[in-house]
Amino acid sequence: MRTLIKNGTIVTAVDQYTGDVLVEDEKIAVIGMSLDIPAANVDKVIDAAGKYVLPGGIDVHTHMDMPFGGTTSADDFESGTVAAAFGGTTAIVDFAIQYRGQTLHHAMETWAKKAEGRAAIDYGFHMIITELTDQVELEMDALVRQGITSFKLFMAYPGVFMLDDASIFKALMRTGKNGGTICMHAENGGVIDVLVQRALAEGKTAPKYHALTRPARAEAEATHRAIALAEIADVPIYIVHLSAAEALEMVTEARDRGLPAFAETCPQYLFLSYDNYEEPGFEGAKYVMSPPLRDQAKQSALWRGLAFNDLQCISTDHCPFCMKEQKELGRNDFSKIPNGAPGVETRMSLVYDGGVRTGRITLNRFVELTSTSPAKIFGLFPRKGTIAPGSDADIVVFDPNRKLTLSAKTLHMKVDYNPYEGREVTGATDTVLSRGRVVIENGAFVGRKGSGSFVKRSTR
Ligand SMILES: [Zn+2]
Repeated sequence: MRTLIKNGTIVTAVDQYTGDVLVEDEKIAVIGMSLDIPAANVDKVIDAAGKYVLPGGIDVHTHMDMPFGGTTSADDFESGTVAAAFGGTTAIVDFAIQYRGQTLHHAMETWAKKAEGRAAIDYGFHMIITELTDQVELEMDALVRQGITSFKLFMAYPGVFMLDDASIFKALMRTGKNGGTICMHAENGGVIDVLVQRALAEGKTAPKYHALTRPARAEAEATHRAIALAEIADVPIYIVHLSAAEALEMVTEARDRGLPAFAETCPQYLFLSYDNYEEPGFEGAKYVMSPPLRDQAKQSALWRGLAFNDLQCISTDHCPFCMKEQKELGRNDFSKIPNGAPGVETRMSLVYDGGVRTGRITLNRFVELTSTSPAKIFGLFPRKGTIAPGSDADIVVFDPNRKLTLSAKTLHMKVDYNPYEGREVTGATDTVLSRGRVVIENGAFVGRKGSGSFVKRSTR
């Protein structure tokens, strides 16, 4: 199978030029100016004139089919990866969860079953560790060998996911030996729990108290502590879904000292704010996620971090729950609202529209933040994350002039609201290839569920 993508503007993290890309089977075979290939020798020609040819987006933070607070995230690996493809994302790294008393192996098998036969694009897994015994430490090494090369730990959700500092430190030390990477949910869970209980005792039950009981300083403190523990263990660390400018200061300070501290932020922290929690009635529940949305005035600090590489990735933390029957569980108690929001489909358009078009980041930086840098940090590069001969043909033909009105009615995520409802963005996917197969064309999904593969990731 040979596909020729002609006359597009090929954009990577470092290049921008007009050219043609020849895809053979699953890989990019040839790139050149006006490739002279007889029509009879290709199966399909895609005219990309006036459009960008980008490496497919890589979203390293999604939660498909994830149990949380007595319910399960609304997208499974089929609907979630189809939605991702519509939005120009061709690979995700999702989170498998080890529950207490279980082995990592059991968690891996459970999540492999959720994805197999359903995913429409390639996927990998991070492993969430909620209990670190000696046996689990050994298992970490085995997982790294099997291509699950990153582990997520929680400093929040005491009694559910939270690990103590000693366990965190041990896990960090272990990655010094096995080459894995620790990803940290950095919020001070103990402090937050006290604030939540106090608010509820005072009858403060509305969604906005979710944000008011999770102060930015609790995120900054945990971020600082996580980096300090990694510094003592002499290993890199990656902070997930960084939302607060105060936490970014901790990352910036560490990086200025030369420490391998990395962090991602998400579109919701760039385009939504605390003000959304003040929407009437129970509407604020749409935005209940952890960490919460922050003050709009602080968003410029995140953009600066993205521009100057103190933040390396933009992921989504896609974790959708419907308002009906799911978010509603917390109608009388904000602490019972399932945490999370949809985002896997809207990331590329939002960041292009709100980042590149506004001049906050360059087009190359957009590619770097949404694809190349996540691929490098999480062991997918150069197989993914760039347009180069030999790389997987995960390619997005992106139309910089296509306008899209974001709405739950027209998007493909399986959730009954969208946090950006009615927002118009300019810049959207046109055609999407996943390992050489066209999966999105003329506004329709033309791929096949189950054709996405588990990707073994390498160590750093
Ligand atoms: Zn998450």
